[in-house]
This record gives sequence, structure tokens and C-alpha cells, in this order.
Amino acid sequence: MMRIVVAGAGLAAARACSALRRSGFDGELVVLGAEPHAPYDRPPLSKAVLAGERDDAPLPFDPEALGVRLRTGVAATGLDVTGRVVHTDEGDEPFDRLLLATGAEPIRLPGDGEQLTVRTLEDALALRARLTAGARVVIIGASWIGAEVATAAGAAGCHVTCLEASPAPLSAALGTEVGALLTPWWSGVDLRLDTTVASIDPGGVQLADGASVPADVVVTGVGVRPATGWLSGSGLEIGNGVHVDEHLRTSAPGVLAVGDVAARWSPRCGTRVRVEHWDEAGAAASVAARVLLAGGDDTTGEQDLPVHDPVPYFWSDQFGRKVQYVGHHDPADDVEIDTSDPDKPAARWHSPAGRPTAWLGVNRMKELAGARKAIAQASA
Ligand code: FAD
Repeated sequence: MMRIVVAGAGLAAARACSALRRSGFDGELVVLGAEPHAPYDRPPLSKAVLAGERDDAPLPFDPEALGVRLRTGVAATGLDVTGRVVHTDEGDEPFDRLLLATGAEPIRLPGDGEQLTVRTLEDALALRARLTAGARVVIIGASWIGAEVATAAGAAGCHVTCLEASPAPLSAALGTEVGALLTPWWSGVDLRLDTTVASIDPGGVQLADGASVPADVVVTGVGVRPATGWLSGSGLEIGNGVHVDEHLRTSAPGVLAVGDVAARWSPRCGTRVRVEHWDEAGAAASVAARVLLAGGDDTTGEQDLPVHDPVPYFWSDQFGRKVQYVGHHDPADDVEIDTSDPDKPAARWHSPAGRPTAWLGVNRMKELAGARKAIAQASA
């Protein structure tokens, strides 16, 4: 009987298990999750959970009904691809096929001061308890997470300061010109752009220019790193994530990777991408299930293997607005900004050859499908 092990117990793991069973897989299925929980959804953590509208975000996942042996509180600690074994902090887990779905971990900054992050349910509940009226909350990074934390902290009556190294919010993801469109939304926040943090110290944040910013609560939102530490020495090809091809296969036979931990080759984008967003994890997991069952390690019949190469998509809810982005733009692409309706700005990126590569819309939900279709057709 075939034995599939999934390392990681988040969205991608849950989706992969459901897809495997839906596809008729009747072998053994084991999921290893470092957290003490069954898989849950992360987007609500920085939105409804921080806002106090809900206390958890379970995913529809019933291990018993799916015939999954869910091992919560068990961390994978190493991988032997030749011996076909995942080492864990509670013994070895042999596998015939393996799916890596260990997600990502927040980047932390230097310093001895307390810094909160928002990755897990516990993180969100701990931060929520600290968002009290009058609290001085310093957010580092005007990022997707930073904006959502600022929204919740502002609504809770906190004094919110945000320290951002770039000249505009979200400029790493969107570029300075498009990021600047979002700056007015931060009007209730002491947003300090071009401001570099040196360290987080007890009682506040030390800036690179020597100044300090006092804080009751410091939240670090400067991005994540793929959770690949446990794979060191495995021989897998790893860069900014576990390298996989368009079939989600790693460099080791029968070992696939999906979601935030995977850096996949995208024929559509002509580059390797690590898409650390919700849509990606779910869609990739469904494809991975089919590849695992089709062989996963089998190079014969490669042309029949399913391909995962959708147009990337994500959304963010911030300052009472829905921001949606679809596509993948290169910093060298041209961007055309549409502010004809100042409440609903949009941006469209084109390659130097004029091909649409990405679209961003604010409260323009009805336009998303059209934008996605145009980008998909242009990059097919
Ligand atoms: P994860 O959900 O991170 O799951 C990985 C799991 O593996 C974790 O439970 C982790 O503890 C476990 N793990 C790690 N290492 C090990 C190990 N060695 N052994 C065993 N288990 C391990 N995306 C959007 O598109 N829109 C949004 O609005 C949005 N909001 C977000 C808000 C927050 C606060 C966060 C954190 C993410 C948000 N995302 C959003 C991103 C989205 O949630 C992720 O892309 C998605 O969760 C990735 O799923 P995953 O299964 O790859 O990883």
C-alpha cells in the first residue's frame, strides 16, 4: 500500500489531502504539523481575528472522514531522500511519496526587545490582547501585514506608528509609484517613510539614524522566509524556497513541494516564482495530488503530468478597502495608473513589448476576472 506523507499542516496540506482522496487514493496518508492545531486559515488572522470578530479560522478538514493520520505538535526535523524517511522530533516517518508544505516563517529583526509577528493563531490572539485604546503600537514595515495590523490597531484606538524603509507603502511588491497611491489611507497613522530600523530594544525601536521610537507594542511585518531550515543537508535544490518544476516536483524523485515553501518554475512568467498567497497554496495542492498519483518520480509520460502555472492572485483588506492584484510584473515593466475615480485607483503593468503582465485594483472586484483573462491570454 502506498504511503504519502505531507510535511506541514496548513492550507496546502488540507487541500492536498482532500484532493488525494477525491482522486481515489486509498493508501496511507500522514500529515505532520508543528502547530498544536488542525489546519486553519491564515488570512482571517490579520483581519477578523485581530478585529475581534472571531477567535479562530478553522478550515474544512476532517481527518477522520478523510482517513488521514494527523500528527499535530510534531515537527519534521530532517529528510533522507535516499532512505525515504522524514525525521521528526517524535520518531521517523517513512514515505513512498512526500509533499513538502511547511509554509513560511516571519522574518525577525535584531534586538532584545519584544517583537510580535502575525503568522499563527496564537500570534494573532496575543497581539489582539495588546491592542488596547491608547497603547503605543509601532509597526515595522508598511507591508500587506503591516497595513492590516495598522487597520486593526487604529480601530482599537491605539496610537499607531509605522516605520517603513522605502519611500512608499508596499513599494517592494508594487513599486514606489503605485505604493504612493496607497499613502493617503495611512492618514490616521504616524507613517514614517525612508526610515530604517536598527534594532528592537526593550521599550522601543532604535532607528539607523540613532533616534529611538518608544513603544508599548512592536509588531514586525517585514516579510517571511520559506520554512526550509529542516531540509538542510537533504540534498534538495533550495534557493528562496524549495525549487520545483511546473509539475511541482523537487530535485528528488517522488518529493513535491507546494505553497509558501515552494519556489516553482513558471513557464508563464519565464522565471522562478514563490507566490506566498492563499490562492496559490490551494491550487498548487490540488495539482500536486494529481502529480503524486500520476507518478511524481516518473519521467516517462511527463507530457501527461498536470502543470501548475496559474496567473498569480492575491488580495488584502486594509483601511476599509479591498486591494486585489493579479499577474506578475517585472520592475522593468511600464505601469499605467488610473486615478479617474480617486476612491478606486487601479494600476496596469505592461512588458516593454506591450504585453499586459499585472493589474491592481482597489474596490474594483468586478474588473478582476477581465484583468486575469487578459493577462492569462497574453502569457499563454
Ligand atoms: P502555511 O499556511 O504557513 O502552513 C504551513 C504549516 O506547516 C504551518 O502550520 C507550520 O507550522 C507547519 N510547519 C512549518 N515547519 C514545519 C515542520 N518542520 N514540521 C511540521 N510542520 C511544519 N494571502 C492572500 O492571498 N490574501 C490575504 O489576505 C492573506 N492574508 C494573510 C494573513 C496572514 C496573517 C498570513 C500569515 C498570511 C496571509 N496570506 C494571505 C497568505 C496565505 O495565508 C498563505 O499563502 C498560505 O497560508 C500558505 O499556505 P501553506 O499551506 O503553504 O503554509
